Amino acid sequence: VNTFTRWDDDFVEPTDAPRGHRRHHVVVVGAGFGGLAAARALADAPVDVTVVEPNNFHTFQPLLYQVATAGLDSGNVAYAVRGIFRRQSNVDVRMARVVGVDLAARTLDLDSGAVIPYDSLVVAAGAVSTGFGVPGIEEHALPLKRLDDAIAIRRHLLDRFERAAADPDLVGDGALDVVVCGGGPTGVEMAGGLMELFDKVLRKDFPTLPVRRARVVLVEAADRLLPPMSAASSRRAHRTLTRRRVEVRLGVGVDRVEPTRVHLADGTVIPAHTVIWAAGVAANPLARIVGTETTRGGRLLVEPDLSLPDHPEVYAVGDIAATAAPLPQVAQPAIQGGRHVAAQIRRRLAGLPTEPFEYHDKGSMATIGRLDAVVDFPGGRHLGGPIGWMAWLGLHLVYLMGFRNRVNVFVNWCWNYLTYDRGSRLLGEAQREAPDGSSESP
Ligand SMILES: Cc1cc2nc3c(=O)[nH]c(=O)nc-3n(C[C@H](O)[C@H](O)[C@H](O)COP(=O)(O)OP(=O)(O)OC[C@H]3O[C@@H](n4cnc5c(N)ncnc54)[C@H](O)[C@@H]3O)c2cc1C
Repeated sequence: VNTFTRWDDDFVEPTDAPRGHRRHHVVVVGAGFGGLAAARALADAPVDVTVVEPNNFHTFQPLLYQVATAGLDSGNVAYAVRGIFRRQSNVDVRMARVVGVDLAARTLDLDSGAVIPYDSLVVAAGAVSTGFGVPGIEEHALPLKRLDDAIAIRRHLLDRFERAAADPDLVGDGALDVVVCGGGPTGVEMAGGLMELFDKVLRKDFPTLPVRRARVVLVEAADRLLPPMSAASSRRAHRTLTRRRVEVRLGVGVDRVEPTRVHLADGTVIPAHTVIWAAGVAANPLARIVGTETTRGGRLLVEPDLSLPDHPEVYAVGDIAATAAPLPQVAQPAIQGGRHVAAQIRRRLAGLPTEPFEYHDKGSMATIGRLDAVVDFPGGRHLGGPIGWMAWLGLHLVYLMGFRNRVNVFVNWCWNYLTYDRGSRLLGEAQREAPDGSSESP
């Protein structure tokens, strides 16, 4: 199983190509999995590439839940975009957000007010978290999509524990309890990670609190966990989480969320001061701005070669793109799509016709917590338990960006495994929250 790709796989020696746009200019919107794969695959092409990304770093989203549960520092799962392209001289980076697209004029508007022209465009702006209109989600639930989200969850959890330690009456009101909405891979990994943080770490940090009774409730509207994975993996995840005290509620949706209460569709009310929304993403609003046809989920409909209809010079890849046969919203379609569009840009420059995109399924995996993970291979084979967990660890380590990050993460994991301790649970005065959940000034 190879769900990610190492960026240094296709490393090429630096060239003397000038920066600036004297050559065919490719603009890549977004430095996520798809955008980086496209830009990297253009390393030795006769083009100049500009990567536009509002953060100065790439986020390795599969490990965000570990930042949220204090297993890793934020710097372990992010990598500076300029560092990634340090040795690729045909790439320039603009730290900006694209806010307008003029397909006729072939220009992009940036939030800085700048306008940049392109000859070819790769739209790889990914997805955003969406509450699907469920009342209270936007206001009271914490999403897990960006690095800032993961840090906010960690801060909120630690803050609730500190508050409960100061005022034990809050415990009965759900101050230590968490509801995770969404039983897909993100929700499952989050629930498992939270239970570990509670049982192995916070229980010792807060000896006066009844941490053993803190609830983690995982709510999934479908009738099983991990709906995109096999039934066997689903059953295993359910079994393991239940054994680890996670309360799994299947077949029921979230009706509304209040600051300290979650109302389920069957009338159940769960007191919880922390609600994590892992139930859905929608296409980045940039898709609407692009203005070509979109699907119901707001994704850009693409031609078989991943270009936009009537715009062979514009491509969309990854979570923002919708192919005729739907692809999963995971890293591999984005990476493979990014590489594919880079190849098509080369072909068009050489006067050749473009080729259709073919996705190669390499399997999927999810960790359920310490010493357990589920892996589905293409062809119907599964792996679970400690071997699956080691496969999960190894794969994420190998494909994590940057040598320093890999070493840091490996050391952190070893330390956590041996000591059950987690170093990343710092909460400064400036990060404490007001009772309504907003950040307090120092
Ligand atoms: C918590 C979590 C866990 C996950 N775990 C896994 C996993 O274990 N395995 C797996 O395969 N997949 C996993 N995924 C899914 C995977 O991360 C995505 O499918 C993948 O990142 C999609 O790649 P992308 O390039 O389309 O978008 P992204 O990687 O999301 O990148 C989009 C980039 O575009 C930038 N951007 C957004 N708007 C603009 C704009 N207007 N202008 C310029 N730039 C913009 C963003 O800042 C971002 O850097 C997970 C996702 C999440 C949220």
